[in-house]
Amino acid sequence: MNSRSKQNEALPPDIAVDQNGDLATRIHPEPPHPYRSAFARDGARILHARAFRRLAGKTQVFSRLARNLPGDHSRSRLTHTLEVAQISRTLAAALGLNRELAEALALAHDIGHPPFGHAGEKALDTALRQHGLGFDHNLHALRIVTWFEERYPAWRGLNLTLAVREGIVKHSRDYSSATHPELAPYFLDLRPPLEAQMIDLADEIAYLTADFDDGLDSGILTVQGVCQHVPLFRRFYDEVTAQYPHALSKQAIYETLNRMLNALVTDLIEEVRNRVAAIGATTLDDIRRAPNRIAALSPAMEAERAAAKSYLYTHFYNSPGMEEEHERAAQVVQGLFAALMADPTLLPADHQSQIPSEGLARTVADYIAGMTDSYIEQLWLRHCQS
Ligand code: MG
Repeated sequence: MNSRSKQNEALPPDIAVDQNGDLATRIHPEPPHPYRSAFARDGARILHARAFRRLAGKTQVFSRLARNLPGDHSRSRLTHTLEVAQISRTLAAALGLNRELAEALALAHDIGHPPFGHAGEKALDTALRQHGLGFDHNLHALRIVTWFEERYPAWRGLNLTLAVREGIVKHSRDYSSATHPELAPYFLDLRPPLEAQMIDLADEIAYLTADFDDGLDSGILTVQGVCQHVPLFRRFYDEVTAQYPHALSKQAIYETLNRMLNALVTDLIEEVRNRVAAIGATTLDDIRRAPNRIAALSPAMEAERAAAKSYLYTHFYNSPGMEEEHERAAQVVQGLFAALMADPTLLPADHQSQIPSEGLARTVADYIAGMTDSYIEQLWLRHCQS
């Protein structure tokens, strides 16, 4: 077999999630659509949700507050999500997995993120811990799609398929039924389908390459520094500058990142194929019962990815200017949380009505988690700084 045909080789067809099987069922049964699959409809439901639109105003790395933006084209959580969806479609197509399911899962993967990125998530979690609770963006995403979105007169939530709900819960980590009995319907003792396993890696690949782009563009990272410490980048940068010695700096960087992204995706596709073959899996059930998740980069590429990510942590995410942003994010989130706890009449009526069933702390967290960066800033100025 030549390498080209090997590159196009799909996995055994029964490994892909069946769009007419049990995983395509919904909590409230609905008749099939005449020309759209259940998973295509789920992707559309997520795309049209209010929580999805708010991703445009949420931090990916840089907060969306105008005074903090280093430029006009750094990623928001929405454009990051669209990049993850593009990579997920490519992965699913190359491996013969269910593309529409992979796309729906990618579109939903960050829908539970609060304002101000991971700093906001940490601050919200810290605030909730004082009330014996915690914040987890996967579980919050499940609450959004099963409860908060109110688009249909017949039920609350988006009434998504079981496969999409399971993928939302399990795309990045495993939960145990001992600590999360409410997640029992999601096959907690089994591995998720490959479509869901791939999302976490598509996410990693998307933000790794995008964050070098945004980090270099902002001036926080320098090409010299990155080349010196990140072999994965250096390898392709040397290749590109040898091939195009007169390229503009930004063209050389884009071309380097394109090649890096392609290398990561290609490695992942090949590694998944190898791992599936190694355990002799031919059905989704084999994937579910495998001792570990199958989706992974090869060990050599994984080591390069981890080194690149650790460079980003030290020199970009936790660089001095960014640390200030994180402290400010924590101050805003925790300040507003305290103000709303002290005076719940500041909550909108539809949130106040949740207090009897959800408790005040969870209701306040739900309200804050939905906000964009600029909306929480406005409320913080109004309620905490006047
Ligand atoms: Mg993400």
